Order: sequence, then C-alpha cells, then structure tokens
Amino acid sequence: MKLLDGAAVARQIRERVRAEAEALAAKGVRPFLRVILVGENPASMSYVSSKTKSAEEAGMGAETLRLSETAPPEALLAEVARANADPAVHGILVQLPLPKSHDAVKVLDSIDPRKDVDGFHPENVGRLQQGRPRFVPCTPAGIIELLDAYEVPLSGRRAVVLGRSDIVGKPMAALLLARDATVTMCHSKTRDLPAICRDADVLIAAIGRPGFVTRDFVREGAAVIDVGINRITSLDDAPAGLRRSDRIRRILGEKGRALVGDVDFDDVKETAACLTPVPGGVGPLTVAMLLSNTVKAAKLFS
Ligand code: NAP
Repeated sequence: MKLLDGAAVARQIRERVRAEAEALAAKGVRPFLRVILVGENPASMSYVSSKTKSAEEAGMGAETLRLSETAPPEALLAEVARANADPAVHGILVQLPLPKSHDAVKVLDSIDPRKDVDGFHPENVGRLQQGRPRFVPCTPAGIIELLDAYEVPLSGRRAVVLGRSDIVGKPMAALLLARDATVTMCHSKTRDLPAICRDADVLIAAIGRPGFVTRDFVREGAAVIDVGINRITSLDDAPAGLRRSDRIRRILGEKGRALVGDVDFDDVKETAACLTPVPGGVGPLTVAMLLSNTVKAAKLFS
C-alpha cells in the first residue's frame, strides 16, 4: 500500500500559493482573509488559528474576528456585511458549526459570493454543479489535488462517495463527475453499503464514524481517501477493528485522546493500493486550498 501524503502535497500547494501572493504583492495587492469565529468551540478555535497562521506564512494578511457565544444573529450578519463592503478583505470565512441561535444557511447566503472562499454560497455551489466552478469547497478540492499528485486515474473509473454533506460529499461527487468518473453517492439510508463501496476504484469516506470502513468495503487495489476526523478518548464504543489496534491503544495511553479517521487504517492497508493517513492526510490539504481560494479571490478584485 502506498501512503498518500497529504501533508507533503499541501506543502507544495502552499509554495505555489506563496508565489502567487508575492506576484500580487508586487502589484500592490495583499490577499487578505477574514475569519469570523462565534463562540469558543475548542476544535473550531484550533482550526481557525491554523488557517490564519498558514495564511500569514504564505505571505497573506489574515485576521480572526471573534464574537461571543451569546452574540445575537444580527451582530454576525452585520460583521459579514462589514467584511463584504471592505475592499481590503478578499476572502471571508465564517467558521462552522455556529451556535444554535444562528441560522447558518442565512449567514452563508449573506457572504458576497466573490469573497466566499469556503465555496458554500449557493451561487458557488450552482457554478460547481454547472461545471464552471469559481470557489470550490476546500476539502474536496484538496482531495482532487492529492489524487492528481499521485496520478490516481479518475476518468472512466468507479468512484464511491460515502457521505452526502454540503461541505464534503456533494461537492466531492461533483468534482469526480467533472473528471469523468462514474460516481455513486452513499449515505445513512443506503442499503448494502459494503457491496457498493467494494465496487469503487476510488473510495472517499466522509461520514464522521470512527473506523467504520473496514476491508469488507474495499476492493483490492482501490484508492481510499479518509476524510473523517474523529476525536476519541476511549475505545469503549469503537468498532471491533479499532479496539484491536495496538497503535491507537498506544496513542490513547500516551495522550488520553486520539484522532482517528472513518477508515480502519490497519484493517484496510493490505487491500487498498493507496490510502490517506489520519492525521496528515486530507486535513492539511483543506487549509492549503483555503489559501489557494483566498489568492483567487484577491485576483478577482485586482
Ligand atoms: P456530516 O455533515 O455529519 O455528514 C455525514 C454524512 O455521512 C451524512 O451524509 C450521513 O448520511 C452520512 N453517514 C453518517 N453515518 C453513516 C453511516 N453509518 N452509513 C452511511 N452514511 C452515514 O459530516 P461532514 O461535515 O461531511 O464530515 C464528515 C467527516 O469528515 C467528519 O469526521 C468531519 O470531521 C470530517 N471532515 C474533515 C475535514 C478535513 O479537512 N479533513 C473537513 C470536513 C469534514 P445522512 O445524510 O443520511 O445523514
């Protein structure tokens, strides 16, 4: 099995983005990302700080505007409107999930689609579906970069996308279709899931269920992309495969917590031709593509 090193491909993308940012800076344009974070969700805080830090490392401007957990919906909408109107801000990202008092759809709809670097605005979603993408959601866009970097063929191949979220599953399917793969989407109501997944030359798992995808789901020689990021503190409720993993036991023993994917890595590694690790697979690509989208946004305005 070949390990698909997302962190290494992400570094290449960041280098490319840095060069583009420098070229824009020479023309007097400094790409600028504004992240809006509501509340203090620890995972969101960590994602946001890694996004702004990476943007700065790539030669861009970035700042996080923080609103309290109890900020009223109007305050968030006002901040989005302010960023929309600010010519120095090229990319706007509202970190999800939002506290329950906010209507996430309304907030995402209010972002100027030309600054929507997450690619969640309906105009950008529609453009992707029509095959004329502008901003593509970062995680699936990064997965395509990874597959291309390792020359995994897509045209005419069978791809199965496990999970149908707006953030990962649906845009992933659109991108694979645009690359002439034959795409099947699966979700929680899909029957005979392992059999359908076994048909895949390329299997993308994005369901948020630790170690769910075992070797029964994987065709010999398939490319398997594990999007899942699941934080676990014990193996009590984990599937049997994960409970048997000495590697995860060791990490839990040392740190008291572990990050595991949706794929049971140890079980699948003998069957798959190539596989992403968690962590170090898809996660770093997501951040790199956010930077790429921010440079693209700055170009739209320059
Ligand atoms: P989500 O919005 O919760 O969607 C999960 C999808 O999985 C849904 O479509 C759901 O089906 C399906 N699903 C859940 N349980 C299933 C089961 N037992 N069998 C078949 N399908 C099932 O999740 P998401 O935002 O797409 O995220 C998925 C995972 O990717 C999470 O672990 C998340 O942390 C991770 N993620 C990672 C990155 C990254 O940068 N690496 C980025 C985004 C997300 P229904 O639609 O029928 O409910």
